[in-house]
Amino acid sequence: TSLFAGIQDAPLDPIMRLFEAFNADTRPGKLNLAIGVYTDAEGKVPRLRAVQEAERRWIDKALPKTYRPIEGTKPFRDAVQALLFGSGAAILGESRAATLQSVGGTGALKMGADVLARLKPGATVAVSDPTWENHRALFAQAGFTVVDYPYFSADTGGVDYGAMRAALERLPAGAIVVLHACCHNPTGADLTAEEWADLVPLMAERGLIPFLDIAYQGFGLGLDADAAPVRRFAESGQEFLVASSFSKSFSLYGERVGALTIVAADSSLRAKVEALAKRLVRASYSNPHTHGAAIVETVLTDPALRADWERELAEMRERIQAMRVRMADSLQQRHPDRGFAAIKVQKGMFSYTGLTPDEATRLREDHEVYALETGRVCVAALNAHNIDRVLDAIDAVAR
Ligand code: PMP
Repeated sequence: TSLFAGIQDAPLDPIMRLFEAFNADTRPGKLNLAIGVYTDAEGKVPRLRAVQEAERRWIDKALPKTYRPIEGTKPFRDAVQALLFGSGAAILGESRAATLQSVGGTGALKMGADVLARLKPGATVAVSDPTWENHRALFAQAGFTVVDYPYFSADTGGVDYGAMRAALERLPAGAIVVLHACCHNPTGADLTAEEWADLVPLMAERGLIPFLDIAYQGFGLGLDADAAPVRRFAESGQEFLVASSFSKSFSLYGERVGALTIVAADSSLRAKVEALAKRLVRASYSNPHTHGAAIVETVLTDPALRADWERELAEMRERIQAMRVRMADSLQQRHPDRGFAAIKVQKGMFSYTGLTPDEATRLREDHEVYALETGRVCVAALNAHNIDRVLDAIDAVAR
């Protein structure tokens, strides 16, 4: 018998399934609001100016492509820490945070999960209900028991913080809690500053291990404001992990640029956990890639490129916000009882629109517009050319 005969069939996650259905759809007007990619006013995935300039410089230098350090280069790691913690942050001088270049945000989560699996084997990992599809699979594959904590309130389109807090209080000490630092995927609903101020000390009191996922820094309120929860954890003195992704903020999805930051209580503990993480990387893919990280490093460290990147990131953020306002106002006016106004308050690339699975199906079948069954749409894929059609289609299926 075959070695592989016993493999259980399992479906692809819903996003990948819809992606395949979209590709197979031959209707010319098909529109994909199901995936998590930012497109510009012309519907194209942007090539950021600063990124293109950094790439030109890279080619001109014609540097040899030798192996990179296991943890990535120091300028890259320092730049990631400054982005997360703020350039003048006290923690930068304390040497208690280790940053390692990773294979996108996913690779950072996976590397963090592998480190935690050594330290807390079989622990519980709590993820928000709902969360990014891959969180659950990733932590389950790393050997954890994955549970969820209440998060989204369909009634308000925001976070049900009371229910979330109560559930976290019931978790056993040593449980790992995955938190979206900003721009929650899939709902767009974020905690308020007051709620973070309550949550950060609660995590320490209960002995919970925070693992922050920041895949959309710069897409919510701005680079600094979006990292405020990370900075709050740093100031609290507790130990935690952060997975950064640069896929969206640099529009470099396929280059797989990300970083894992592990914050320890002091620099000698940091050295221990950094060494463990490096051993795990060495035995899984040996060294990280060169190109994408070199580009991000150049943009983050060259003042002119950095300023231009921040401008273009702000343009992306403001464009999404403009689409949110149009969508919320138009749908709220047509369906005052459906809670569409929350779309305007939600942050990042996605919104939970409140569309039912049946409405999402009709949107796809009758109007060629792909949304997730959960009602998640990618607001960042809307533009002046397609938004009226999308709003009319949502209006029609919501009747
Ligand atoms: N976390 C969240 C919440 C995400 O939405 C994503 C990307 N969709 C990731 C992590 C992974 O990012 P990357 O594509 O850089 O692996």
